[in-house]
Amino acid sequence: MMPYAVGLTGGIGSGKTTVAGLFAELGAGLVDTDDIARAMTGPGQAAVSEIAQRFGPLYVTAHGALDRARMRKLAFEDSRAKNELESILHPLIRRESERLVANSTAPYVILVVPLLFESGAYQTLVRRVLVVDSDQETRIERVTRRNNLPREEILAIIASQIDQAERMRRADDVIRNDGDVAALESQVASLHRKYLGLAAES
Ligand code: ADP
Repeated sequence: MMPYAVGLTGGIGSGKTTVAGLFAELGAGLVDTDDIARAMTGPGQAAVSEIAQRFGPLYVTAHGALDRARMRKLAFEDSRAKNELESILHPLIRRESERLVANSTAPYVILVVPLLFESGAYQTLVRRVLVVDSDQETRIERVTRRNNLPREEILAIIASQIDQAERMRRADDVIRNDGDVAALESQVASLHRKYLGLAAES
């Protein structure tokens, strides 16, 4: 039987990865679509040769991995290229997510999908959706510190994502991440108990 899966989403810099790590510490299974995407575009992966066929060898590093910086720049400047890249990667990531959830032996699985609502492809894989919510300025500050991206690029990413009010409307559960990590721990612990219960009932 398919393990009970909770989709975890939220805007860039909201704290998804941090929250997912706290669930994993408590014993939840963890599948992260960003990790899958990174693994799939690493040296010698099938997705890399597909991308090279479509976009040319310039987008592959000397080690045979996707040249992420170059690809990110192209996708940022050319929406058709972005769509083509996504049409290669998204089905592969969706399929691998399902395989990893199915193989998990944890009591339930947290599946991190940054664009869960935007994509729509994950609704059939998860039983409920947890949104990590955080003020926009806080998110921009965190991403600036983490990725050293220019503010306008962060704002463009935010603008390309579903707006926070809509995300909140569609959430089954919400974690607020405007305080310190200790404030996250208690929220995660209480949802963990809830998910253990729901998974046991299902
Ligand atoms: P996401 O996965 O949603 O993009 P992350 O979990 O990677 O967000 O968080 C973005 C950055 O902010 C990371 O560097 C993380 O360590 C930091 N961060 C997240 N939540 C907090 C918090 N409550 N206090 C301090 N730093 C935080």
